[in-house]
Amino acid sequence: MTERIIPIADGRYVAPVPIVPTDAPAPSGRLPDARGRPLHDLRISVTDRCNFRCTYCMPKAVFDKDYRFLPHASLLSFEEIARLARLFIAHGVEKIRLTGGEPLLRKDLEKLVAMLAPLTGAAGRPIDLTLTTNASILPRKARALRDAGLQRVTVSLDALDDRVFRAMNDVDFPVADVLAGIEAADRAGLRPLKINMVVKRGVNDHEIVPMAQRFRGSGHIVRFIEFMDVGASNGWRMDDVVPSAEVVSRIAEHFPLQPVEANYAGEVAERWRYLDGSGEIGVISSVTQPFCGSCTRARLSTEGRLYTCLFATDGHDLRALLRGGHSDEQIAAALGHLWSRRADRYSEIRSSRTAGLRKIEMSYIGG
Ligand code: SAM
Repeated sequence: MTERIIPIADGRYVAPVPIVPTDAPAPSGRLPDARGRPLHDLRISVTDRCNFRCTYCMPKAVFDKDYRFLPHASLLSFEEIARLARLFIAHGVEKIRLTGGEPLLRKDLEKLVAMLAPLTGAAGRPIDLTLTTNASILPRKARALRDAGLQRVTVSLDALDDRVFRAMNDVDFPVADVLAGIEAADRAGLRPLKINMVVKRGVNDHEIVPMAQRFRGSGHIVRFIEFMDVGASNGWRMDDVVPSAEVVSRIAEHFPLQPVEANYAGEVAERWRYLDGSGEIGVISSVTQPFCGSCTRARLSTEGRLYTCLFATDGHDLRALLRGGHSDEQIAAALGHLWSRRADRYSEIRSSRTAGLRKIEMSYIGG
């Protein structure tokens, strides 16, 4: 197979400083965008670095030894992240996910967890705080994260077959060590555990049924994700996508399934449960069944840029406001202004016309 690598579009350094309106109302906890979608989830990328080189996310040909990762001084500090998190919560955010890059590579991440975990959202309810990780460092970190107040984790695992897994992470990382991370998280009480598998046709689709089989009855929820055209470096082609409908029917041939209601409006994964009561799976179908209409997610990059869509080309420089001496009221007003104008719906308009856009990389914006 010939690999097609598109040169990376480095849009990281171009981001306008947001307008700070002078007459904005105080945050009310409900902030609809231009399409009526409230601000509900915040994904925070804490590092753009990763110790894996998954071929579909950070291909070695682009993220090699000469790749310029962000210098430490440009990263938001934990205090800056926590300050922004409070302002997002004032506008209605109830769920925060820490991500990256590989978030556990950020030194002392549990300190940030300890700062975010006590934050409360609407009606004084604690926010839902979680983390997405490749689990490579979880055996060492799970207990400290739990003690700091982390509620649960999502682990990425693309195959159980060691050969396939090592080839996909492209750093020869053994699957046994990820399974040890999952066990450590479970033992530490980081539950319910979700396990994300990105499915690429001809690469790991033969692992769909073994993954379902392995985690049935474990209490963990495997979520099968359609390979997406995020960023500009992974050589995405529609032929590589295995539609979620096919994933469900392949699993159902072995283990009958029935659909389940979403847990809440705007939930990304479509839920299916095993008829024999041995748990559930999820499918995330951004390509074949876009869910832009109910997307309530904002993304904060490692250096404090706000992105209002995973497939965005441009961010908004919140760090400039933080470091420019603006007050909480001013930054909250800027956030309100930005979100109320949000009209993104990339997955609904994906076409040959959108194919050449300089989309930001997933490792930078956060998965
Ligand atoms: N390093 C962490 C991890 O491995 O979970 C967090 C960051 S990673 C970018 C977040 C998630 O995005 C992972 O589950 C990864 O598999 C998924 N991902 C990355 N590129 C993707 C793509 N092109 N399509 C679908 N999912 C992708």
